[in-house]
Amino acid sequence: MNLDEYRSTARAWLADNARENDDPKQFMARLHDAGYSGITWPRQWGGQGLTQAEERAFAAEARHHNLPTYIFSIGLGMCGPTILDRGDDEQRARFLRPLLRGEEVWCQLFSEPGAGSDVASLQTRAEFDGETWLVNGQKVWTSVAQYADWGLLLARTDVDVPKHKGLTMFLVDMHHPGVTVRPLKDMTGHSRFNEIFFDDVTIPDAHRLGEVNDGWGVAVTTLLHERLSISSGVGMSGQKDNPVSFEALRARLDTSDPYVRDQLVELHIRSRALALFTQRLSQETKAGIFPGARGSAAKLLLAELTMFQADLATSLAGPEAVLDDGLSQAISLAPALALGGGTNEIMRNIVGDRVLGLPPEPRADKSVPFKDLKVGTQS
Ligand SMILES: Cc1cc2nc3c(=O)[nH]c(=O)nc-3n(C[C@H](O)[C@H](O)[C@H](O)COP(=O)(O)OP(=O)(O)OC[C@H]3O[C@@H](n4cnc5c(N)ncnc54)[C@H](O)[C@@H]3O)c2cc1C
Repeated sequence: MNLDEYRSTARAWLADNARENDDPKQFMARLHDAGYSGITWPRQWGGQGLTQAEERAFAAEARHHNLPTYIFSIGLGMCGPTILDRGDDEQRARFLRPLLRGEEVWCQLFSEPGAGSDVASLQTRAEFDGETWLVNGQKVWTSVAQYADWGLLLARTDVDVPKHKGLTMFLVDMHHPGVTVRPLKDMTGHSRFNEIFFDDVTIPDAHRLGEVNDGWGVAVTTLLHERLSISSGVGMSGQKDNPVSFEALRARLDTSDPYVRDQLVELHIRSRALALFTQRLSQETKAGIFPGARGSAAKLLLAELTMFQADLATSLAGPEAVLDDGLSQAISLAPALALGGGTNEIMRNIVGDRVLGLPPEPRADKSVPFKDLKVGTQS
């Protein structure tokens, strides 16, 4: 099937099947049966083995709908690709197909109350007794954890080495006794993220992802996928009714006003430039070229663009911005992108250090054993 046929088949399927009030799990199963979940993932692990071109064609059609896929965004965009890259065949066989079919929801458990930007200073401990790992600690800001069956957990396994060298990645059963999930409300009034407590939770060694104490290397893979998936919108739910999109603002605002026209042109140029940049990064990734810190640049550009859209809507729509529920939700959600997936300041540090070659931030703690550091709540 050529690309035009693929796209029109996808359009017809979406027209018949995309219903935003659908049960998310049933919808994902239908999406997978139709061949539109895991489009570029290998067939061996439940994917479709197709190319970026098909994925982009489907995404372009899906943007005209509000698909009920929000709870799968962390699994599809971050956890799944990390298991694909860093898992063993047993883990790929066990976890990837149920993830693509929406049978199992995933969350990402990195941030803690004392470890956000500096996530390598986290304190959740995992101790090995020769057979299983015993986990104790707390995570926070964990998106979609209230729906999750599995979590990608970064925990400390060695306190006698510097902080980046004593971490290990695990796949944790979120229904295990001792896992407590408490939803937190954000400023839109919704609960999109949670705090999680681990009290004597056991994890079999077969659910360790990567080598012991190589968790930082695995986390870097996840963070790269996170920044690329956030900036390209992979795994995100539909944007059909986004009230601060170029189309929505153009329809709402007085375009005979030269200032409004000027701002809309600015929005269009920035959106297009970002779309082309993320397309290029995705193509390079598939071709085996590591986008590295440029993924952070894409994520920063998207966070800034989203704030620009929210500011534009606020200043030009006036009191309507408060009265219109959809618009006020979109505006109050915008700052989340400047924090989640790494803050704008951290993205700038990474770009300055690794893209522009500026002097890195001084890191006095790089060679000090973790147990001797004063980080988080550790005294
Ligand atoms: C909507 C949303 C969803 C999220 N989902 C998840 C999730 O699913 N899983 C997960 O693990 N985490 C998640 N997070 C957490 C997110 O990764 C952290 O909020 C983020 O890394 C910042 O950490 P922090 O909140 O602890 O802030 P801090 O690290 O305490 O930062 C506070 C302020 O200091 C600045 N700052 C810190 N260090 C530096 C520095 N070296 N140079 C310059 N400025 C600095 C920051 O930019 C920020 O402005 C989510 C957050 C949000 C908002």
